[in-house]
Amino acid sequence: RLAQQSKQLLAAYQQGSDEDYMRRLQILQALPEAISARKLNLHYQAKLCCRSGEVLGVEALIRWQHPQLGVIRPDEFIPLAEQSGDILRVTRWVCETALDQQQYWLEQGRKLQVAINLSAIDLQDEKLVEFIRQQLEKRKLAAANLTLEVTESAVMADLEQAQERLAQLRHLGVKIALDDYGTGYASLAQLKYLPVDELKLDQSFIRGLKDDANDRIIVRSTLQLASQLHLTTVAEGVEEQSVWYLLQEMGCDTLQGYYFSRPLAAQEFEQWLGEQALTFSQQARDSGKQH
Ligand code: C2E
Ligand code: MG
Ligand code: MG
Ligand code: MG
Repeated sequence: RLAQQSKQLLAAYQQGSDEDYMRRLQILQALPEAISARKLNLHYQAKLCCRSGEVLGVEALIRWQHPQLGVIRPDEFIPLAEQSGDILRVTRWVCETALDQQQYWLEQGRKLQVAINLSAIDLQDEKLVEFIRQQLEKRKLAAANLTLEVTESAVMADLEQAQERLAQLRHLGVKIALDDYGTGYASLAQLKYLPVDELKLDQSFIRGLKDDANDRIIVRSTLQLASQLHLTTVAEGVEEQSVWYLLQEMGCDTLQGYYFSRPLAAQEFEQWLGEQALTFSQQARDSGKQH
């Protein structure tokens, strides 16, 4: 294990500056302790119905506030946790925390679909399926209200393995989402055989939607294809109302983005839900009247 770790550290050293290396080293060293001392936390970003503006659920996104290094973004530490093997423990912690939260919201009378992110390494974990089954059972939560997001590139990294694991997970009754879709080179033929329920179009296609005719062609045809394959479609990275209305006209099912809400700590999210969230169903009604 140690030899393996030093090899990884050496590999990390060989890319980037000394400063980058020191930072990566610090992150790698601090991570196991951060997991066990529960210094990680989850933020929640709303997923809304494109047609009605109603909040359907949340995506749980991990955050790490480090005393010296400040906020460490998941894009920075998740790849390191994948290299060191700590990712399996991170994922379990995320799963437990997000399900605790879902259970709490249910007790408060709020039914919310909860999505968590899996990494490519999680798909190799033989104990993952049983772990998730137990976590649901323990809390008496319906599997169908949990979504597992896997990036298209994680799936393509080992297609056979992913297919098998995702099929096992889906057999539990959980929903599977293909994240960052459009960046990982899955062919349409492969898509047809993947056990997925939801396609999340990558933000890079959504952000330029108003101004880029090519993005509009790609998004429109992907949405059509997905609906023919009976997949739920999600657009991430919606930052403007005009993009929402464009996606509505294109027939997208679900939206996520800063226009509606940034990822928020649980309490802030609850406050958003009680206040701002209502304005979006109003906006959806108003836009319907204009058409
Ligand atoms: P993702 O799963 O594709 O999550 C969406 C990312 O886009 C999030 O970044 C979110 O904050 C950001 N985002 C959402 N709406 C907008 C928008 O309108 N504009 C812009 N510019 N950005 C938006 P975040 O939280 O930094 O997470 C980055 C990535 O890190 C995630 O991408 C996911 O791949 C990974 N990640 C986050 N949490 C976890 C986790 O618990 N486990 C694993 N394995 N990966 C995670
Ligand atoms: Mg995601
Ligand atoms: Mg994504
Ligand atoms: Mg992403």
